[in-house]
Amino acid sequence: MRCLVTGGCGFIGSHLANYLKRKGHWVRVVDIKPVEECYLPLQVDEVLRMDLRIYENCLKATEGIDWVFNLAANMGGIGFITSVAAEIMHDNALINIYMLEACRQNNVKRIFFSSSACIYPAYRQDQPLVEPLKEEYAVPAMPDSYYGWEKLFAEKLYEAYEKDYGMEVRIARLHNIYGPYCTYKGGREKAPAALCRKVAEAPDGGTIEIWGDGKQTRSFLYIDDCLDAIYRLMQSDYSKPLNIGSDELISIDELTDIIIDISGKKLRKVYDPTKPQGVRGRNADLTLIENVLGWRPKTSYREGLEKTYRWVEQMVKKEGSTH
Ligand code: NAD
Repeated sequence: MRCLVTGGCGFIGSHLANYLKRKGHWVRVVDIKPVEECYLPLQVDEVLRMDLRIYENCLKATEGIDWVFNLAANMGGIGFITSVAAEIMHDNALINIYMLEACRQNNVKRIFFSSSACIYPAYRQDQPLVEPLKEEYAVPAMPDSYYGWEKLFAEKLYEAYEKDYGMEVRIARLHNIYGPYCTYKGGREKAPAALCRKVAEAPDGGTIEIWGDGKQTRSFLYIDDCLDAIYRLMQSDYSKPLNIGSDELISIDELTDIIIDISGKKLRKVYDPTKPQGVRGRNADLTLIENVLGWRPKTSYREGLEKTYRWVEQMVKKEGSTH
């Protein structure tokens, strides 16, 4: 297949682009970011620097392509998506609208969309011991962020293109993906990477700050498991939204303890309840993906965090501590 990965200089996109190449596909990466800023060295056939908020660029990007993996998005962790609203909705809606239309014009065979667990309603995520989120819980809708509302709108947009134009769409609701070569600083980082960075920067015997009270819960999926699920979904004939995540609930406190243990340091945790913590609890229900794709995550938190921490630690050492 001739594959396009948009957002291919980002965390998931860069891993996916190299994964597709290893599977024997021809791969083009498009990103607004210069390739030099991509942490993972890309081993692909073509890299184009383009802004996909412009329709003509989407047309060029999808020329001669069979499979599109549309991962480009203006996004970040809880700190970013709770502080920015209009820019996120504007940029991501344009990317999705133009990419879909360009795919239609260029007769792309199949398009994958990276939706998010953030589409799920806040009222189902209001306690730490939360019921896992099933795909059918998306409605009645009440995402807790503008980012989530845009993803939900985009899911409907993909559905409409399938309905009216017969486009083959594959929609994954990704739940907290983590691993090496992710954003770990600068304000867009997500919890696992941010905590790895804080632990790596802290002197032995020092303290690290945790946002909220640490009792908020999530489930996190290691990048290699995510790639496997995305690839299986793309090859399948399933066109409805599907959770790709882990169903192993963990509190931010427990996650931090594992990272501290991996570091070998003795650190004290301090809490800042004024910082954003998002929904109180979020877990993925994997019943549907197990039935449809026969897929389950394989990587334990210990194993995935070990690899992530070692990479972040190496980056922090390279730069010199910011403390
Ligand atoms: P990321 O920020 O590392 O990657 C996104 C990439 O999109 C970046 O490299 C960015 O430069 C690029 N981009 C942004 N605006 C662009 C534009 N106008 N034109 C071209 N490229 C543009 O994020 P990620 O974690 O790799 O996430 C990838 C996708 O998966 C996103 O759509 C995100 O919303 C979705 N997702 C991620 C997670 C997660 O846990 N990481 C969870 C749910 C959904």
